[in-house]
Amino acid sequence: MHWSLSIIEVGVIPDVPLAAHVPGTPPEVLVALPCYCFLLTDGSHHVLVDTGADARSSAIAGLDIEGDTRELLAEGLQGCGVEPDDVTLVVHTHLHYDHVGNDSCFPRAEVVVQRTEVRWATGSDRGPYYVEVPALLDALGERVRPVEGDIELLPGLQVLWNGGHTPGHQSVLLTTPSGGVCVCGDIVPMKVNTGVVGSSCPRSAEAEQFLTIARAAGWEMIPSHDPELRAHPACVGKG
Ligand SMILES: [Zn+2]
Repeated sequence: MHWSLSIIEVGVIPDVPLAAHVPGTPPEVLVALPCYCFLLTDGSHHVLVDTGADARSSAIAGLDIEGDTRELLAEGLQGCGVEPDDVTLVVHTHLHYDHVGNDSCFPRAEVVVQRTEVRWATGSDRGPYYVEVPALLDALGERVRPVEGDIELLPGLQVLWNGGHTPGHQSVLLTTPSGGVCVCGDIVPMKVNTGVVGSSCPRSAEAEQFLTIARAAGWEMIPSHDPELRAHPACVGKG
């Protein structure tokens, strides 16, 4: 089964220290990094990878996102001819606030996340970028589908646990007519991180291991926050 990818820009995080992704950059160098959601379709299933931020959780995390994510996501989906109710599967690469803010817009979707990520995101060592995850999980209820490791969700569509950025981080691998395409998530925030692991991946050995597998497989790597993605042929969002 062949899948296709649409990249929807859903806002911009201003003033990110580039040093978090590019080792050796002076700490004062700040960049504005886009956030994206990724729509995957095989013609009959519509799968959304991550749902962007919402204004409230961004404010709580202390990182305001420029742009109305909810509106940009709705417009982007509409541009692909997809209604929110058509999305029957949401995959979360991880549960940081800028990836889970609009789950409530997709009431028919099962929500796939690694069990390890759920555990970490609700534990005491989770760090500042998890915002009210217990409330999110409560709201989703039985729609949450915790998975463990590498799982085929549908023919030609897999999630791959890889850690690196967070203990339960996963990427999504789709089979396309031109080969494997990996929607990386924050294990590869910028294209440069296909070659070098930045400090935003503190579990660097896991990230290195995943990059080695990806290189050997020859997948196209789709980063999560790279401005260059705006020029990708699959990009439909306009931030
Ligand atoms: Zn993250």
